[in-house]
Amino acid sequence: MPLYAEVIIDLVSNAVDRPFHYHIPSEMQDKIKPGMRVEVPFSNRRCQGYVLRLPGKSAVDSLKDIAAIIDPEPLLTAEQLALSHWLSMRFYCRLIDALHAMIPASFRKGKRPGEIKVIEPTDLADGAALKRAPAQEKTLDLLRQKGPLPRQELIRLGANSHSIRSLEQKGLVRAVTARATSPVNDGLEDEQVSLTKPHLLREEQAICFNRIRAALEEDKPEKMLLHGITASGKTEIYLQSIARCLELGRSAMILVPEIALTPQMIEHFAGRFPGRVAVLHSRLSVAEKNRQWQMILDGRARVVLGARSAIFAPLGIIGLIIIDEEHETTYKQEEAPRYHAREVAWWRARYNRAVLMLGSATPSLESYHEALEGKSVLLRMQERVTPIQLPPVSVVDMREELKSGHRFIFSRRLLEELNGVIERDEQALLFINRRGFAGFVLCRECGHVVRCSSCDVSLTLHLDRQVMCCHYCAHEAPVPETCPACRGTKIRYFSAGTQRVEEEVKKLYPETPLIRMDRDTTTGRHAHSHYYQQFRERKAKILIGTQMIAKGFDFPDVTLVGVVAADTTLNLPDFRAPERTFQLLTQVAGRTARGPRGGRVIVQTYHPRHHSIVTAADHDYISFFEKELENRRQLAYPPFSELVRFLFSGPDEEAVFEAATWLTGRLEPAAGEAQILGPAPASLYRIKEQYRVHTILKGRALPRLAPGLKKVIREYHRRKDSGSVRLAVDFNPQVVL
Ligand code: ADP
Ligand code: ZN
Repeated sequence: MPLYAEVIIDLVSNAVDRPFHYHIPSEMQDKIKPGMRVEVPFSNRRCQGYVLRLPGKSAVDSLKDIAAIIDPEPLLTAEQLALSHWLSMRFYCRLIDALHAMIPASFRKGKRPGEIKVIEPTDLADGAALKRAPAQEKTLDLLRQKGPLPRQELIRLGANSHSIRSLEQKGLVRAVTARATSPVNDGLEDEQVSLTKPHLLREEQAICFNRIRAALEEDKPEKMLLHGITASGKTEIYLQSIARCLELGRSAMILVPEIALTPQMIEHFAGRFPGRVAVLHSRLSVAEKNRQWQMILDGRARVVLGARSAIFAPLGIIGLIIIDEEHETTYKQEEAPRYHAREVAWWRARYNRAVLMLGSATPSLESYHEALEGKSVLLRMQERVTPIQLPPVSVVDMREELKSGHRFIFSRRLLEELNGVIERDEQALLFINRRGFAGFVLCRECGHVVRCSSCDVSLTLHLDRQVMCCHYCAHEAPVPETCPACRGTKIRYFSAGTQRVEEEVKKLYPETPLIRMDRDTTTGRHAHSHYYQQFRERKAKILIGTQMIAKGFDFPDVTLVGVVAADTTLNLPDFRAPERTFQLLTQVAGRTARGPRGGRVIVQTYHPRHHSIVTAADHDYISFFEKELENRRQLAYPPFSELVRFLFSGPDEEAVFEAATWLTGRLEPAAGEAQILGPAPASLYRIKEQYRVHTILKGRALPRLAPGLKKVIREYHRRKDSGSVRLAVDFNPQVVL
């Protein structure tokens, strides 16, 4: 009988970020299990906590008793507990942050409803021949009509208990645990979904699928990268791989970017696996979320479809995890726990001896490099299933425009194409990335942007102090009066946004209805789908927007995509800027040429020779990858290193710098061979009255340093005056602004 329990207190505070020991009173000793919620006395009050372990002995004297057990069964699986420990080390979060990521808030708070046993048909029941056993046939029919039912209820409805037992022995039905309060036959079964049939695979698809099938049948973890151009039929591969995985008696999980989780997408999966798909995303109501979660716990849902956080779903015996559009930044969570879904997925794949499949038309540099190194299996699809052709992309050199005396934000070429669209009554998208706020200094004659010589990120202009600053290493330089490259004098601060574009379009075409979509115009819950509908119904001809219009917009009448300033992403002071630019341009280009009228893309830039732009215009991922990988190698950025970013923020500028300096000074002994950059002001130096300063650790195999770094972080939190300065530690940050 266990006598002691290690409990983590359910308070989000650095002060209690360690397990506390409690004594287990005798009446609880045969009930208590790791993963359960308990009530414990803690500094003169009662707190909720989670049981982590039941250690054989405790070095602490005079332990307090656990006051009560909250749930009849553990809320966390053994896998989730192990995963939480790993998360807290890998991503430098509190253990409680990791645990909270595993369970929906409503489950964590309320009492858990009681449980009941219900009978449900198994997968074998689908094609079972029971002609000679009419009583069993009738029982199965009842279950098919009504969904899983408690044994007594089934008998009350006319099934006899003998036939239920026979079916159980044949493995055609089984008893599973369900919660009494959730209606048992609920969820997607009730919705009208039309069934979809698998396509006969094309040759390329079949080659990939056979390789995946072989991996699924082997009982060992394997990582695969499916690099397939748009419309090469990746989704069909996902669907058939999931089907095979279910046949093998395992469950499957597929993650897609939040924005891709449209009703059509959900129908796609529900239509192939009716009644067995749980859908998880951030727009679900609490009740909906609970219901989906319950389906997973009951074992009714064998497939989980969701956005980033669905990676923590308590799905058992996983055989396959798919991450679609694996390069998307939304797979990285920007608040604690600051995890990357790709890494969590690989952890779970190893734990479950499952296959992890990453899919993308523009894989992240990290994933593609890993595949080339033989750490994952590379699968390629270079042909389209549908007749959609890639649109021609023209790059307009804005320096030439200026030279010819044309100073407008739209080039002559783009104006000409816009006029054509209006005349022919078609539709156009105008794209501008508003995150071009980080004011960089650009020569309008030669396109030169002043960069840091050691970090190769653009220097950011600080108007107040009239200096330019590197936001990685804190190097400062005076603002040049003439261009250091061409001696030109038309050097200036660059900025342009969606609003400015909207104003100019209105002046040009006062009669033409337009829509602007950016963070300011889409705050409402339904704003996004509202604008989508409006544009779909052709209530507007021109749609102006930020990256939010780069994905999933599928309109046949869009015959023109204009990228007003490719430079806004390209010149972000972030080493991933070229990669983001390539991905964004590829995605934006995919928004046209989807209908019979075809389409074209115009990209305006001051850097027409930049490899991101040239290769995106040629739809050439491999060339982009090779060039960019070489750049990363030279500067030892990921995938040739890993980063840990320590970001300090607070209202008092001096205190923020002081805190950053204090911690940076203590990093040295813990950092080993890793390089310490900073402290330096972050690119976004001041947000909402908060000053931001960071220190970046750059080196190889940084997770090995985690225990030492955690210790420094703990010391930092114990410092008296760190209260007003917030510290956020981020392993392999995706955005370093
Ligand atoms: P991707 O995910 O690679 O962009 P999709 O999976 O969406 O591509 O495929 C594009 C379209 O082609 C979809 O409408 C899909 O139903 C269809 N499709 C996929 N595979 C086949 C196939 N083998 N035969 C016929 N149509 C297919
Ligand atoms: Zn620098």
